[in-house]
Amino acid sequence: MSGSTGLYIHIPFCLSKCGYCAFNSYPVAAYDPPLYLAALYREIEFWSGRAGDELFDSLFIGGGTPTILLTGELTGLLTLLRKKFVIGEDAEITVETNPNTVDPGKLRELRQFGVNRLSIGIQSFCDSTLQLINRSHSGADGRNAIAMAREAGFANLNLDLIYGLPGQTPASWRETLEEALNLNPEHLAAYQLSIDPGSRFAEQVEGGGLRLPDEEATATMAEQTLAIVSSAGLERYEISNYARLGSRSRHNLIYWHNGSYLGLGAGAVSNWSGLRIRNLADPNHYAKRLLNREPPWQEGEALAREPSFRETVIMGLRLLEGLDLPGLQKRFGIDPEEYYGETLRKLVKRKLLSSKDGRIRLTEAALPFANQVLAELV
Ligand code: SF4
Repeated sequence: MSGSTGLYIHIPFCLSKCGYCAFNSYPVAAYDPPLYLAALYREIEFWSGRAGDELFDSLFIGGGTPTILLTGELTGLLTLLRKKFVIGEDAEITVETNPNTVDPGKLRELRQFGVNRLSIGIQSFCDSTLQLINRSHSGADGRNAIAMAREAGFANLNLDLIYGLPGQTPASWRETLEEALNLNPEHLAAYQLSIDPGSRFAEQVEGGGLRLPDEEATATMAEQTLAIVSSAGLERYEISNYARLGSRSRHNLIYWHNGSYLGLGAGAVSNWSGLRIRNLADPNHYAKRLLNREPPWQEGEALAREPSFRETVIMGLRLLEGLDLPGLQKRFGIDPEEYYGETLRKLVKRKLLSSKDGRIRLTEAALPFANQVLAELV
């Protein structure tokens, strides 16, 4: 357990909607960011009294594309957050961004206002792939964003990449990966494309209008990822995440440890004081509620011990270090080996989980189909 507490702020706007995206994000042209920010400010106000002197050692402004906001809107938000919450002096402060929503001035200002980590949605450096997935930028825009971030003084960069995309081959994925690594990121997230319900791709796959790489090609891309990223000196510490020493994502570790976090903004989720709170997803509904001085959540539930324990097991096993069994028992008063009994023993016997020195973890063999293994423990 990391013991960290996180603060997440959701900015749900993007230039346009990418084909694979099922995140809570909306093309900005149809929305009113100043109205949204006015509502968000109210929510910040509401929580600032309740969070009291809780120390946040991670702040993550995510989306959507937060850098779609004007520089002054972003710096105003950062200033307000620092005024209303206790954000540690050495907190990890991340802003998520996409190429062609930043310029040198905006990045310099973010850096000056204490942002010390930038997470850039590169996805691919191949222009034809980027077009097929409806990204609003080119490979050159991606390179340019990274160069500008370095120039502005960012010493901690995460690059998000996706493999298994339409039109992608192991050779083109290798090129993207090698190019990304040549730019020396401190952190790299390489996700396999998933076709999520609600995305445009899900409809296209159903209608037979989308051709994806076959299973064999995707498996090759997964193997390449591990080999190429590891040989560049980044350590795989989660199923899809790699980092240089000391550069693991503090914010995501809070989620994987099922720790405590406040999530503000449309659709944001909080795990706070034994409660799980989920805000309304639609930015206009969210804003209307707050501007009418009503709470913006659509649901709130007390986290019962057992579901919370299971959730912690599932999330924690995503980390390659696995789960500390005595620590889990201490936290929840449940013995994991007794609780999962035969299921756990079978997974160990099938060499999908290993159990050693009081920890269980996914084996290397299980990593390519981790989700199916984890599903047995839900
Ligand atoms: S930029 Fe990210 S959040 Fe926005 S539509 Fe594309 S994938 Fe979704």
